[in-house]
Parts: sequence; structure tokens; C-alpha cells
Amino acid sequence: MQQNIDSYDFRGKKAIVRVDFNVPLNDKFEITDDTRIRAAMPTLKKVLAGGGSLIIMSHLGRPKGVAEKFSLKHILAHVSECLGVDVKFAPDCQKAQAEVAALKPGEALLLENLRFYAEEEGKPRGLAEDASDEEKKAAKAAVKASQKEFVKTLASYADCYINDAFGTAHRAHASTALIADYFPNDKMFGYLMEGEIKAIDNVLKNAKRPFTAIIGGSKVSSKLAVLESMLERVDNLIIGGGMGYTFIKAEGGKIGNSLHEDELIPQALEIMAKAKEKGVNIYLSVQTLVADDFSADANTKLVPSHEIPDGFEGVDAGPESLERWGKVILDSKTVLWNGPVGVFEIPPFANGTLKIAEFLAKATEKGAYTLVGGGDSVAAVTQMGYAKKVSYVSTGGGAMLEALEGKELPGIAAVKA
Ligand code: AMP
Repeated sequence: MQQNIDSYDFRGKKAIVRVDFNVPLNDKFEITDDTRIRAAMPTLKKVLAGGGSLIIMSHLGRPKGVAEKFSLKHILAHVSECLGVDVKFAPDCQKAQAEVAALKPGEALLLENLRFYAEEEGKPRGLAEDASDEEKKAAKAAVKASQKEFVKTLASYADCYINDAFGTAHRAHASTALIADYFPNDKMFGYLMEGEIKAIDNVLKNAKRPFTAIIGGSKVSSKLAVLESMLERVDNLIIGGGMGYTFIKAEGGKIGNSLHEDELIPQALEIMAKAKEKGVNIYLSVQTLVADDFSADANTKLVPSHEIPDGFEGVDAGPESLERWGKVILDSKTVLWNGPVGVFEIPPFANGTLKIAEFLAKATEKGAYTLVGGGDSVAAVTQMGYAKKVSYVSTGGGAMLEALEGKELPGIAAVKA
């Protein structure tokens, strides 16, 4: 049975907590963005304040085995500073029995990178490129078999399990899902996970109408499943960014050199037909800022989105598109935003994305529930200073995207089971 972190009695208990400390490091192994570390603090502090001790586990990067570069000891000092206790370190996540036994209430131990072991992900490593199907199958079976022992060892360290790693909730890994089975009555979500799950429910289960989704970003191919999921749920679908040009081309528009995927034109047409059938309003861009180069000093002009001249490509939404989209957003009670509506990394092409952030902030002020999640829109809204002006900004790119696609995330299902 799933427990609640607020009511669970941590006194004298050892809690093993899966966090997402996969933070970016520079050449000197200094943390360049500690958002993920800070995001886990409320949960970690709760356990310590409740009289428990902490065994903290995470992955860092994509090591293929033990690699100094990906050691979590690089972040130990900063985790200690954020937590306000001197966090101890176990240099091998599978041989931490002595360090765990010595842990007293109020103390914390950080385990070395879980992905130093192939068993964490359950995927074989070091297979020759020309390995036969038989060899691949055997290697997979071997890692799956040793994964059981790996999980069992991690579970043996603790009395209870907390999953607070939303960033990896879409993976059925040892520490994110399989371990939960060892704690049938002592498993729970941390505060970060609880927040993300509530945000997902607010748009997928309890959305107030009108519900508008803004889907942008570069490629239709990476957003197809989200678009299809949204068609089942929203009243309005705003399609912007690079992916919008495939839809405009599908409608017979001229898109010049804009980004597009010809092979997805049939799907784009199908989405538009389905929307019509379901009474979902689709809003494509009507006016585009085009540039003759993908750079800040390119020549630019505003043109109708269906009449982009050759030699130019669409790089941002024009004011007329934004005006239409703004009205739709401000009339909504629930707004989901996934993906920038222009090349916001290049300042002269960031206006559209900035305006969308402003519209979301205004809609929030008017009482709408607004969620930014799953993609570069999170970076955009944070960078532009609007993160605190919307209802929720998700911390998990891929995980949020899969949740919005309507998939059940293994990390969530394992704790709820
Ligand atoms: P995604 O990760 O799919 O959300 O895509 C985000 C990327 O889409 C960002 O790096 C944007 O620069 C890019 N993007 C947005 N609009 C355009 C556009 N009109 N042309 C090319 N790339 C775009």
C-alpha cells in the first residue's frame, strides 16, 4: 500500500530516496545549474526532520561503466550545503552495507552513481556491434538476471522507499520502479513527484474548460503522440514553432526554406481532419517572422505564414499570430504549453515565445491553471523570468512528455501498485 510522506513516521527509520541529481557539470566538475538538487530538498529535509536517516541514490550522465567523470562525489559538497548536514559518501552503491549500518537518525549518505552498473537500467553493455540476435538475447537475459540481486541489495539498506525522481519516472529502472516491490507497505512519493503528478492530473483528468494546449518545438515527429493525446482532451490546439510549417504545407501553403517533415504531411492532415470531427479548434500561425539565415544578424521580415518566399525560413511567430493565440489563451481556464513557438535561443527570434510566456502569466492571474512542461518551453519560461508567474513548471522533460501522451509512467505505477 502506498504511504504518504506527510503522515509516515520516519522516527528511527532508514529511507532510501531516489532523486534526480543528474545536474550539468563544467570541465572542472562544478555544478552549472543546481535546480534538480534544490528540487529534492523538501523531501530529504522532511525525512531528517521526522527523525529518520537518508540513503540518497541517483544517476549522473550516461556512463558506460565506472567513470570518474560521472562520479556523484563531485556534487557531495553542494548536496551537504543544501541539506545542512555533512552528507557521507558510499563509493560503490552495491557495497554500502557498512556505511548504511553506521547511519544514525538525522544523518545522510549519498550512494555513488547507480548507472556505474548496467543493472540499474537493465540493458546489456559492451556488446560487439556485429553481435548476433542470439548473443543479444543472452546478454539481455544475463543483465536481467543479475538485476534482481542489484535491486535486492539496494532495498536491503532501508526500511522505506521514496521516489522523488520525476525526471526518470518514465523509465522502468531498478531504482525508479523495480525496488518499490520490496516495500509493499513502506513506499511513497516525495514532494516533487507529488507536485508533478498533481500537475499531470490537473490537465489530463480535472481540466477546467476551455482547455487550450500550445504545442511548439522543432519536429512533428517528436510531438505526434502528444498532439494525438491532446486531440482527445482539449478545446483549442495552438500549433507553433518549426513543427507548424509541416501543417501549413499540408494545407497547401508555401513555406520557403522553413523546417518541415514531408513524410509527416499525411499525419498532419489526419490530425486536422480529426480535430474537425471532434470540434477541436486548431490555430496555426497566420503571420511569421522569416529570416534569410539562422543567425542573429540575418535579414528578416514579416510575411503571411502560408506565403513564405524561397530563400527565407520561418523563425518566429508574427504579431498577428500572437494576437489570435493570445485571445484564445486568455479565454481559457486550463492551459498547457509544450515547446517554444520560435527559435528563442537567438534573441531576435525570441519574441513569440516571450509573448506566450506573458499570456500564460496573464491567464494565471485571471485564475486559469497553467502548466509548462515537457521540452524547451521549460527552459524558455525559466530563462525569461516567468517560472513563478505560471501555475506549475515541470522538472521532467521526457517524463512529462510521456505523461502528456497519456502513458502510464513506470516510476509512478510502481509506487501506486
Ligand atoms: P523541442 O525540443 O521539440 O520542444 O524543440 C525545441 C526547439 O525548437 C528549440 O531549440 C527551438 O529553437 C526550435 N524551434 C522553434 N521554432 C523553430 C523554427 N521556426 N525553426 C526551427 N527551429 C525552431
